Amino acid sequence: MAPILILKCTKCGGYILAKHAQKAKVCPYCGIKINLQKAIRVAAAENAFDASEIIKRLKAEKGFNHKP
Ligand SMILES: [Zn+2]
Repeated sequence: MAPILILKCTKCGGYILAKHAQKAKVCPYCGIKINLQKAIRVAAAENAFDASEIIKRLKAEKGFNHKP
């Protein structure tokens, strides 16, 4: 199974990277604690580089333009 998951924040919709074994993570965009069991899994990747490439593609496709 791919070790890195790409998830969508349940509150702000931002894309988050998480390791497969992780149970919770704080969203870097809005700061809420996300239960990774409940978060929407968008994709999975073999490594951090692949994951960032997938996120770039997702943002391009959906016009996601979050400004920090
Ligand atoms: Zn968020």
